[in-house]
Amino acid sequence: MQRYRQLQIKLTPQRLAILSYLNGNKTHPSAEDIYKAVKKQFPTMSFATVYNTLEALKNRGGVMELKIDDKRKRYDPDSTKHHHFICTKCRSIVDIFKDYKLSLPDELKKGFDVTGNSIEFYGTCRKCKKGSEQ
Ligand SMILES: [Zn+2]
Ligand SMILES: [Zn+2]
Repeated sequence: MQRYRQLQIKLTPQRLAILSYLNGNKTHPSAEDIYKAVKKQFPTMSFATVYNTLEALKNRGGVMELKIDDKRKRYDPDSTKHHHFICTKCRSIVDIFKDYKLSLPDELKKGFDVTGNSIEFYGTCRKCKKGSEQ
């Protein structure tokens, strides 16, 4: 939680609830998921509060916005470099912390300043694979 205090966003009790839900969360929740979870604790919580908090966090590097799920934006509180696998059946997202050394495509070797990359893997997760084999 300490790192969120350094982001200099105004911490209301509602925002703190959002932050504590995100803290260490590995499920890559969507704004809707966060809203549903935090609303239990704060019945007056509005979706706009969740969304605005996520935007404020995103702009300060406190959360990453993932576009790997084509249905909805997902959020990742882990800002250390990693890649993702998404299950196309259950939409679960798994972190991959292996570092891949990519050779730069020829088109980017001249004149481009590449500062990073992320790899997205798609497929069927272990759980869904098991389910379909039964
Ligand atoms: Zn799955
Ligand atoms: Zn992640």
